[in-house]
Amino acid sequence: MVSRVIPTDPFDLVIFGGTGDLSRRKILPGLYRRFWDGQMPKEARVIGAARSDMDDAEYRDFVRQSVTEFVPKRKCDDDLLDAFLSRVSYVTIDAKGSGGWEALATLMRPDVVKAFYFSVAPGLFGDLAERLHRFKIADDDARIVVEKPFGHDLVSARALNATLAEHFDETQIYRIDHYLGKETVQNLMAVRFGNMLFEPLWNAQYVDHIQITVAETVGVGGRGEYYDRSGAMRDMVQNHLMQLLCLTAMEPPSKFDPDAVRDEKLKVIRALQPLKVGNLVRGQYRSRDESYVTDVANPDSRTESYIAMKVEIANWRWNGTPFYLRTGKRMKERVSEIVVRFKEPPHSIFEDDTGQTANELTIRLQPNEGMDLTVTIKEPGPGGMRLIDVPLDMTFAEALGEEAADVPDAYERLIMDVIRGNQTLFMRGDEVEAAWAWTDPIIEGWETREDRPKSYEPGSTGPEEALMLLHKDHRRWRELRT
Ligand code: NAP
Repeated sequence: MVSRVIPTDPFDLVIFGGTGDLSRRKILPGLYRRFWDGQMPKEARVIGAARSDMDDAEYRDFVRQSVTEFVPKRKCDDDLLDAFLSRVSYVTIDAKGSGGWEALATLMRPDVVKAFYFSVAPGLFGDLAERLHRFKIADDDARIVVEKPFGHDLVSARALNATLAEHFDETQIYRIDHYLGKETVQNLMAVRFGNMLFEPLWNAQYVDHIQITVAETVGVGGRGEYYDRSGAMRDMVQNHLMQLLCLTAMEPPSKFDPDAVRDEKLKVIRALQPLKVGNLVRGQYRSRDESYVTDVANPDSRTESYIAMKVEIANWRWNGTPFYLRTGKRMKERVSEIVVRFKEPPHSIFEDDTGQTANELTIRLQPNEGMDLTVTIKEPGPGGMRLIDVPLDMTFAEALGEEAADVPDAYERLIMDVIRGNQTLFMRGDEVEAAWAWTDPIIEGWETREDRPKSYEPGSTGPEEALMLLHKDHRRWRELRT
C-alpha cells in the first residue's frame, strides 16, 4: 500500500536556503505532503535559514504560500496546514558570517535526528559545514543533504568531496539526484530483480540496444547564465542520465542495501568505454524567432542545449549492446523514458511480411509514470496469421488507481530517506567522481576541437545528425510521444 505510514524518528531539519526557489517549489511542499500523510511525525520541526531578515511569522507566510501554490487542493487542509506551520521556524543566518549561528544552536533539540539541507550555491557548502561544527550544532549522527551541481568537473567535485569530508563522514552525506527518488526508477529495480521474467534476458544476447531519453519542452528559462556554463552534458548527462544508465545496466546487488547498490552502479561507470567522437552529437536550438544564444545572452556560445551519444559498456553482460542517450531543451515533447529493445526472434516461422517486430520494454519516468511492454500477437480476425504488436500497458495511475495518485514526489521520498538514514537512493562520492572522470575527457575533446553544436528547430526532436547516429546502426530513436 502506498499510503502505509513508515515510523520516522522525530527530527529537526534545517534548510539553508529556506527562502530559495528549490525550497519554495519542492522541499517545503514535499514536507507538508509528508505531514499530511502522517509520515512526518508531529514532533518534527523545520527551520528555514537564509540571510533575509524575517521572523517566524513572516517565514510561515512564505511556507503557506508555497504549499498553497504547489500542493494539490485536495491535500490542502487548513487545520493540518496550521499544524504543520506551527512546526516551522526561521533563523537569519549568513553562511559566510557568524551572526545567527548561536541562535540556531539554541534552537536545535538534543535527542532528535538532525538534518541540514544545503539548498544554496555549492560555493557555500564548506562555510556551512565548518560552522555547523564550530558552533557545535551538528553531532556525529547529523545528516547533510547537498544538491546538484556536484562539481563542474572532476577536480572541483574532488575538492567539494574533500571539503565535506573534513567535517562529515561519507555515511552522513546525502547527495541528491532527484531522478533516483522517482517511483518508476525504483520500479526499474523491482521489475529487474523481483521477477524471473526479465533478468535472464537482460544482456547482450537478448537485448539489441537501450535508449535513454530525457526531453524537455522548455528552454533555459531564467537559468541562462548557469546553464550556459554547464550545458546538457554537465546539467543532465553526468548525473541524471548516468544514474538511469547505471540502474539499467548494473549487475544484481546482493541486497537492497546502500553500498551494495552503489558498488554495482560504480562498476558500470568504470566499465564505460571512452566515447568516440563519431558517437557524439551536440545541438543548439535555433530558429528565426527563438534561439539558445539569445536566451543565454551569449551570441558566441558553443554550449549544447541538446546532446545525443552512443555509449558502450565494456563488460560481459553488455558487450556489443549500445546504450543511446539523448537529452535536450526545447524539444517536441516532455518525455523521460528508458527503452529496452530486445532482439528479434532468431527465426520466424511466419511469412516474411507479417509485421512482426521486436519486443520493447519502456520504463516511463514522465509523463504518466509506468511501464509498457510491447508483445507480438496474432491480429484478431479471419485474415490468416497476421502478426501485430500490442502494448501490455501498466500505467501506474490506471493500474493502482487512488494509490498511484498518492505516489510521493521524488523530493518528499528522498527527504524522508535522509531522516531514516537510508542512503540507497543517494549518490556516493566515488560515484560522482567516476562520472566526472568519464565525462571530462569528452568535454575537453570538444573544447579543444572548438566544435560548434548543430542547429535544431525549437519544438523538434533534435538535430538531424542525432537521427543519423542511430540510422548508421540501422536503428531508430523511439518516437517522442506522451
Ligand atoms: P536560489 O533561489 O537562488 O536560492 C538560494 C538560497 O540561498 C536563498 O534562500 C538565499 O537566501 C540563500 N543564500 C544565498 N546566499 C546565502 C548566504 N551567504 N548565507 C545563507 N543563505 C544564503 O537557488 P535555488 O534555485 O533554490 O537553488 C539552491 C541550490 O539547489 C543550488 O545549489 C541549485 O543549484 C540547486 N538546485 C536547484 C534546483 C531548482 O529547481 N531550483 C534544482 C536542482 C538543484 P538569502 O538571499 O535570503 O540569503
